[in-house]
Amino acid sequence: MTDRTVHKSPSAGGVSHYLTDYSVARGQFSWQEARRALAGGESRLNMAHEALERPIGLGLGDRVAARFIDRNWNRADLTYAQLHLRACRFANILRSLGLGRGAAVATVLGRGPELFIAGLGTLKAGNVFCSLFSAFGPEPLQTRLQLGHVRVLVTTESLYRRKVAGIRAALPELRHVLIVRETPQGDLPADTADFAQLMSRAPETYDSAPTRDEDVALLHFTSGTTGKPKGVTLTHAAVIAQHVTSQLVLDLHPGEVFWCTADPGWVTGIAYGLIGPLTCGASMIVDREEFDPQRWYRILEEERVNIWYTAPTAIRMLMKAGTALARGRKYPHLRHMASVGEPLNAEAVTWGLEAFDMPFHDTWWQTETGAIMIANFPACEVRAGSMGRAVPGVEAQVVRRAEGGGLEVIDSDDQAGEIALKPGWPSMFSGYLEDPERYRASFLEGWYLAGDLARRDRDGYFWFIGRADDIIKSAGHLISPFEVESALMRHPAVAQVAVIGVPDPICGQAVKAFIELRAGFEESEELRRNIMGHARRLLGAAVAPREIAFKESLPRTRSGKIMRRLLRARELGLPEGDLSTLEGRE
Ligand code: ATP
Ligand code: MG
Repeated sequence: MTDRTVHKSPSAGGVSHYLTDYSVARGQFSWQEARRALAGGESRLNMAHEALERPIGLGLGDRVAARFIDRNWNRADLTYAQLHLRACRFANILRSLGLGRGAAVATVLGRGPELFIAGLGTLKAGNVFCSLFSAFGPEPLQTRLQLGHVRVLVTTESLYRRKVAGIRAALPELRHVLIVRETPQGDLPADTADFAQLMSRAPETYDSAPTRDEDVALLHFTSGTTGKPKGVTLTHAAVIAQHVTSQLVLDLHPGEVFWCTADPGWVTGIAYGLIGPLTCGASMIVDREEFDPQRWYRILEEERVNIWYTAPTAIRMLMKAGTALARGRKYPHLRHMASVGEPLNAEAVTWGLEAFDMPFHDTWWQTETGAIMIANFPACEVRAGSMGRAVPGVEAQVVRRAEGGGLEVIDSDDQAGEIALKPGWPSMFSGYLEDPERYRASFLEGWYLAGDLARRDRDGYFWFIGRADDIIKSAGHLISPFEVESALMRHPAVAQVAVIGVPDPICGQAVKAFIELRAGFEESEELRRNIMGHARRLLGAAVAPREIAFKESLPRTRSGKIMRRLLRARELGLPEGDLSTLEGRE
């Protein structure tokens, strides 16, 4: 695999990094200390308290907590103090509804202030917050609201009419629906209440519920990349790891402008689009619009974004739009860029240097881990194509399932194994909803098994190989889909690519690549041969794709991940499985 090392200076933009020396930081780190630094010696711990009262106590009340930007470039700011008062009001609404501690509250909302207020108010009240992606249709919403035993839902009038009204009868546990009005006039739908009216009447003080580390705070549904989405619970203690990683990995300092492009319908949009940055006193940018290269560059420039956390799909789409577009604006305030969600090809890392004079820093984690576990740190060298090293406090290894059923830790840096994490980090999930068996099966011999394959080099850097389900076995070799995809990405015509294994009578599985072309390239037999030749040169004939299919677009989850399982199912004529998270579906 390519190892293009990018060396970094110990500080950038005059800000000193939280983590300057990796080994020292690792050696000194303890989760007990991290908890004490956040919550003192108190036995109670509440996510919303750490996200609001703590920064306010540090004198940050008047700082912008979040700036919401709408389609017409109107900007609406909420300071920490304002957000706190509104969250208190919402917590009081829940109290007035007689909601018991631990009951679930969901939102089906776009990226606006109400989502932030409802989320933080729910956590403050000691209830479980579940943010559902607003583009879900009625069916996926019904499944999730049922599974989560959701009692209160906050949504907009139009989303309610289109998606919830028709399933309401099937949701007897859903007692209260609070409507965020889009227009002030007109009657609300039957059996709903007006969010704004309740807010205006609710008191502005509320003592955070005395929640404990182990109390469930968040309910997230996974992306559904490998199968039916799973309901994952995280506890209030997750705030410790979200805070620590917001500092050590994202390097968020008080007052810095931070833009996390993930939607709060997914774990990244809550851990690093809401909770983590607030605990650091950062000012978040929230774009209410969808992805658009020109818009994104304008936001980076005009909002003076210091730190940017985005995803490989978006980065590849920006690459597709061309480096000149990125270069058309100036980003003197930008000092750190990171990525998560899918493997980040070396090409994309180094494109950062061309477009922004700095590399993208890959980070790896999952809904189940609740916070970043493996990362390239701002002050350390970036190995392009590698996910980086374990976060201080996290013990990560690659392991192999031994023949007798046990686990072996793999020392050699060339061998593939499954990523395994030693439980003990505070944001580890506390369960899969209604699937305790699956939860138990995720742990073996004292390790949590992540279901992703990687290799670990002798310096502790992890190199992603593929999800366990996506690995291709061909003529006795294990082929990494990511390695093949990365090689194909280096061809100038390739914008996005996914590879899968297709049955082959001789070698078991052969590699098939699905390719989205860059603007200016036309599908042709000659181009196909040219790409094949390029792949063979880089990978050798045994690993290069045997077949290439050109596609207008690849099937993706709504969180932007390529659904290889769907490509496989379609190729083999198998059932397509759960498609609730497929982009473009309702
Ligand atoms: P499901 O579990 O429902 O199939 P999902 O695993 O995609 O969906 P998430 O928890 O949102 O749901 O995503 C975590 C997964 O995303 C990881 O297990 C990994 O496969 C992938 N991932 C995240 N970050 C990276 C990264 N930096 N490099 C490679 N893969 C990554
Ligand atoms: Mg997963």
